[in-house]
Amino acid sequence: MSLPIRAPRGVKDIIPPDAIRFEKIFEDTTGILETGGFQKILLPLFESATLFSRSIGGATDIVEKEMYTFEDKGGDLFALRPEGTASLLRAAIEHHLVDPGKIVRLSYGGPMFRHERPQAGRLRQFHQIGAEILGPLTPSDDVDLISLIHRMAVSFSIPSWRLLLNNMGCSVCRPSYREALVLYLSQHEQSLCPTCRHRTKVNPLRVLDCKTPSCQNILETVPRITDFLCPKSQSHFEQVKSELDSLDIPYTLSHQLVRGLDYYTETTFEFVSDALGAQSTWAAGGRYDGLCQELGGPDIPGFGFAAGVERLWLLREKAGTLPVVASPPVWMTVFPLMTEARPSALKLIRNLRENSIPTTGFFGSVKIKSAFRQAEREGSRFIAFIGEDELRSETVLIKDLKTGEQTSYPIKEFSFIAQNIRKTILPA
Ligand code: ATP
Ligand code: MG
Repeated sequence: MSLPIRAPRGVKDIIPPDAIRFEKIFEDTTGILETGGFQKILLPLFESATLFSRSIGGATDIVEKEMYTFEDKGGDLFALRPEGTASLLRAAIEHHLVDPGKIVRLSYGGPMFRHERPQAGRLRQFHQIGAEILGPLTPSDDVDLISLIHRMAVSFSIPSWRLLLNNMGCSVCRPSYREALVLYLSQHEQSLCPTCRHRTKVNPLRVLDCKTPSCQNILETVPRITDFLCPKSQSHFEQVKSELDSLDIPYTLSHQLVRGLDYYTETTFEFVSDALGAQSTWAAGGRYDGLCQELGGPDIPGFGFAAGVERLWLLREKAGTLPVVASPPVWMTVFPLMTEARPSALKLIRNLRENSIPTTGFFGSVKIKSAFRQAEREGSRFIAFIGEDELRSETVLIKDLKTGEQTSYPIKEFSFIAQNIRKTILPA
């Protein structure tokens, strides 16, 4: 016997009955986005690798270490998408959906791919649901989308959630902050971990994200971006805070919240939950004012977020709010007792299905006991037998497994059979 092939590390099958519950989580979350006017867009699973290095940033963990990049047979370099924003913007530009004068709201969902160390709530193929708003935005648009995510937290009863908030400045004030940060980090270079020493040179803001214990001392007194904001960014920040206050959405200021992607400007935020352990963030996003132009589109600001579906699952499981959905039922199992009865059985099955009776066939055995067992496994209410007598008299014998009652029908009276079955299962 050859060795079985297993799913790749960090890649999970979602088997019945979890699969339909997982899909329901998608529906619930997208449903909330629909109440905010977001329209669904379906995006490809792979893109030119340069799309991601140009948008997310060549010196980020995602692009440097986590991206599944491959050369196809034509020699072009592609990557499995590690996130959705870059693809969405690429598509919005390509199809002229963006326009400096109008606001567009788009949502997406599906699998994303990152080569990370798998653990609870961290996979190599995981799922995100996200939304982006593109156009002439104000700080109120940031708040409005955060408010929709807040509705998810409330309606899914996410346990002990918190909203972390920061402002990362803009192209005017970020350079002077960056300079102050690099100066500070260089002064403490000896105490930084090797990764942070490297990052100080290539992408200093990433240092603020470092979780290495030895760096935490240095980070305690690191210059704060919010002390460097220009008047425009300062006013953006104040407006976001006061409008969140007016919606009674509590937040915690977090000056080290820079996110793992380079395109963010101004508002950044994360919804976290202590119930998730180390992987505490379940939704995150922010403003990206230069990204559309960077990808060859018009100079249009954007604001977006992505939620991790596996983490939403874990949190809703903890809260007892996982969607309750039953597997689709099977009502009838058709059992031909001999090979010659199979054509009649197939015809009956097809016609019952056409009459909206969920029906399966059991062809592989002549043992009545096996047929009963299969019907039970599938949750069937009825078994239809076609044996020698039935073939001769052109009938079918249908047994109600709940009441034990047996009825013989003319086999060609498909809609009459269907009607009776439906009446029993769905009494008026
Ligand atoms: P983290 O800090 O947990 O690595 P991130 O900053 O890389 O998250 P984003 O790129 O902003 O995350 O993605 C948004 C959301 O997608 C995250 O908040 C999380 O819920 C989910 N997510 C990200 N990476 C993974 C993963 N490898 N497995 C499962 N969910 C993930
Ligand atoms: Mg990450």
